[in-house]
Order: sequence, then C-alpha cells, then structure tokens
Amino acid sequence: MANQRNYQKELEKLLEDFQRENRVPTLFLHSCCAPCSSYVLEYLSSYFKITVFYYNPNIYPKEEYEKRVQELKKLVQKLPARYPIQMQEGSYDPQRFFTMAKGMEELPEGQERCFACYRMRMEESARLAAEGGYDYFTTTLSISPLKNAGKINEIGEELEEQYQVLHLPSDFKKKNGYKRSIELSSEYGLYRQNYCGCVFSREEARRAGRI
Ligand code: SF4
Repeated sequence: MANQRNYQKELEKLLEDFQRENRVPTLFLHSCCAPCSSYVLEYLSSYFKITVFYYNPNIYPKEEYEKRVQELKKLVQKLPARYPIQMQEGSYDPQRFFTMAKGMEELPEGQERCFACYRMRMEESARLAAEGGYDYFTTTLSISPLKNAGKINEIGEELEEQYQVLHLPSDFKKKNGYKRSIELSSEYGLYRQNYCGCVFSREEARRAGRI
C-alpha cells in the first residue's frame, strides 16, 4: 500500500547511491512557496543541480501570487548551495485552476480538490522536466503537515510513467523538515502566508479566524 511506504527512507537510499557513484543528477523541483522551499533547497542542493520551478495558478489573488514569486527569488539568491540553483517561473493561468476545481469548490482543504491541484502543478513540472532532459522531478509540497505525502508520491509515480522522467520520492516533513523550514524562514525574513493559496482556502482561513 502506497501510504505505508517510507518515502524519506527511499529518498535517503537514492542519495546514498548518488554519493557512492559520485553522481550529481539534475532535478526539476516544483516549488509552492519560499518557506516550503527553504529546507528542501538546503537539503537537496548538496546532491543535485536544481532548477526551482514556480508554477502555481491556484494562488489567489494575483498580488499574493506575485508576492510569493518575489519571496522565492529572494531565497534562491541568498541561500548558500553546494551546486548551483536556478529558477524558472511558469505561466500564471488562474482559469486553468478554476476549470480544474469546478464542482469541488466547497470541499475542505485536504480532499479531492487538493489532489487535483497537486496533480495539475506536478504534471506541468513532469512535462517540462521531460522536455528539458532532467534526471528527476519532484515537488516541495510534501513538507506541509497539511499535505498528503502518500497521494503526492502516488501522483508522482503515475507522471513518471506518463512522461518518462524519474520522480524523486519525498516526505520532506520527516526528519524535522517542517520545523527547519520555519527556522530558515525566520533567518531569511521570508513571508509566511496563512492560507494554502486558492480563493477557497482563503475563505476557509477567514472562517477559522486565521486571516
Ligand atoms: S487548498 Fe491548497 S492544495 Fe487545496 S486546492 Fe486550494 S491551493 Fe490547491
């Protein structure tokens, strides 16, 4: 069963293999935001040449989208890394998100709308990773305690088949990854948003009094 696998251990095994073989593969890394990327970049940039891909048409409104892009740029410029980190921005096409979310608007965070949202962003990443000849693709999403790592890895493996590019397993919240992302966000003065990203999650946060 997918959910019983330990994706962090699977990742560690791969990293050990790279070191033993003296390999530094390329990684196309989908990023949801700077705070989540901070720990992931600190961790993986010792093993991969990374291109961080910011593709998040789910984010609402546009000003919030822009703010998150700027924070990620700031982080990539400042973060020390053993191997170079590049950044690529996808297109901001919010209509694509709304079409995808149709009929699922009222669902709470963490259900089917979110699984489709992971897939939409990961699929664009897998497609471009394959097109660009990258060794691996993955996403920072599994760092959040609110995201379903089993589902993220399941989708990643389906996309690996579909686009013929290797999916890097992850459960970045393990090994205190989430805690470290909070420390790094504070160290680099990063803006930490208090809702996931879409207009529906913003409303949910409002109802809960978080914003
Ligand atoms: S709550 Fe987050 S993951 Fe779920 S649909 Fe909205 S932006 Fe996507």
